[in-house]
Amino acid sequence: MRKVNDQDLMNPISPAVKELQQLLGESNVLWRPDDLRVYSYDGSNNMATPDLVVLPSTASQISRIIKLARRYNMAIVPRGSGTGLCGAITPIAGGIMIVFARMKQILNIDLENRTALVEPGVINLDVSTALAPYRYFYAPDPSSQAACSIGGNVANNSGGPHCLLYGVTANHVLGIEVVLEDGEIVWLGGAAPDEQGYDLVAAFIGSEGTLGIITKILVRIMPLPETTRTLLAVFNTIEQASRTVSGVIGAGIIPAAIEMIDGTTIRAVEAAYNIGLPLDADAVLLIEVDGPKAGIDELQQMLADFCIEYGARDVRIARNEQERADLWKARKTALGALGRLAPNYYIQDGVVPRSKLPYVLEQQDAIAKKYNVTIANVLHAGDGNLHPNILFDAREQGAYERVRQVGGEILKLCVKVGGTISGEHGVGIEKLDYMPLLFTPADLDAQARLRDAIAPTRILNPCKMLPQGSRCGEVTKSNLPSAIAGNTDVWI
Ligand SMILES: Cc1cc2nc3c(=O)[nH]c(=O)nc-3n(C[C@H](O)[C@H](O)[C@H](O)COP(=O)(O)OP(=O)(O)OC[C@H]3O[C@@H](n4cnc5c(N)ncnc54)[C@H](O)[C@@H]3O)c2cc1C
Repeated sequence: MRKVNDQDLMNPISPAVKELQQLLGESNVLWRPDDLRVYSYDGSNNMATPDLVVLPSTASQISRIIKLARRYNMAIVPRGSGTGLCGAITPIAGGIMIVFARMKQILNIDLENRTALVEPGVINLDVSTALAPYRYFYAPDPSSQAACSIGGNVANNSGGPHCLLYGVTANHVLGIEVVLEDGEIVWLGGAAPDEQGYDLVAAFIGSEGTLGIITKILVRIMPLPETTRTLLAVFNTIEQASRTVSGVIGAGIIPAAIEMIDGTTIRAVEAAYNIGLPLDADAVLLIEVDGPKAGIDELQQMLADFCIEYGARDVRIARNEQERADLWKARKTALGALGRLAPNYYIQDGVVPRSKLPYVLEQQDAIAKKYNVTIANVLHAGDGNLHPNILFDAREQGAYERVRQVGGEILKLCVKVGGTISGEHGVGIEKLDYMPLLFTPADLDAQARLRDAIAPTRILNPCKMLPQGSRCGEVTKSNLPSAIAGNTDVWI
């Protein structure tokens, strides 16, 4: 790589670049516009370019980066794999983006204590892959698990299909090492079952990079279940499928996963992967149970009978690991397959009490008709977690504004029936406007005060998670200094 010289750096961030290059080496500091553009987006429709990207290898380097950022009054934006779906890494105030691509080691596997110590850049699926020879696994399994990082999972408190039975990320994190915004490196929590004092680990889980930079994570690991059964129940109406979900759980069976894929998504998945899903179905449920071999056949039969009783026209059971993998491929690649239907999609992530699913899906259909849009649904149905994907073409004038309105109406509907505005994707910048639907000004202020107690200068991922007006968004492009000026467009 060519050496940076003063001619290259005709902008106000050049002294910061030079200092960072000394700290990290030239190849670990990106500043050329073409390089920065790669880091300007996540999985949502938002984009903004950071001023600099750094790739540290250690917590102490991160500590020094933060101290430098404070000296130059630049924002810090931590970025995992960039698969987030709410603009939580969109650097709307510019600044230094910290990327964890050089921090991808599984540092320790401790079977006796059932823990693993990992760096934040470790890819979710790599943990279970490393544990497989010991017949252990890491339970939270976002559908993006082949790409997303554990650091991002912790900062978003991510869920996944099997979190119905096993619980979300928060239930599997025992301790974290974090770098605070004054550069101090601290451990929160630990391997002991009940740490005394305030549960600060819980405060960091789901904090979207606003409280500190997570540099090590001690996760709980679990023995693989002795056996697993996977069923595909085929329905002529989405209403039958959604009634089945609460029927099964109401009867006292908690499967490891109950996922729903609607007819529009089925047809996209089939066009892309030809897995053999029924093209004329309105919805399928993908149901998995696991546990000891004893009793699993009876459980599988009970589930199949339930589905038929609730209107399934067919129940298929995966006969081997390949068939099981194909069914999960249908679910986990569903979002990518939507590219067959439209150039863009706008995903929402509302949650409703699962018994309200039939009503909410019907109302959502009415919203789609009102705005003349197509919605493709994939749901963590067992958790009542909707993922309506509103299809659009960003090149069409006004299309993005329209799908955002549709998304807003769906979220309001979720809150109206006693649900919430995000099951797992987080708030980022996308849902800032909807936080007051859930929280009073006093609630939001209490959260802002917690953040200010831990990260008072607000240079860490500014303007995310807490809306303007609750002492949350004062660090913006207008009052951050010239170091970040002229680089803050948010667009689709
Ligand atoms: C196809 C697809 C399927 C998905 N399925 C699911 C699903 O089933 N369940 C689910 O929950 N989500 C899902 N997601 C959303 C996304 O994958 C998760 O939110 C994931 O946890 C993000 O991880 P990441 O590494 O990409 O983080 P990023 O998107 O890079 O960052 C997410 C947040 O974490 C912060 N962050 C990252 N690393 C650190 C760190 N070390 N310290 C402090 N803060 C940090 C960032 O600042 C940001 O606020 C899906 C996304 C896609 C594209």
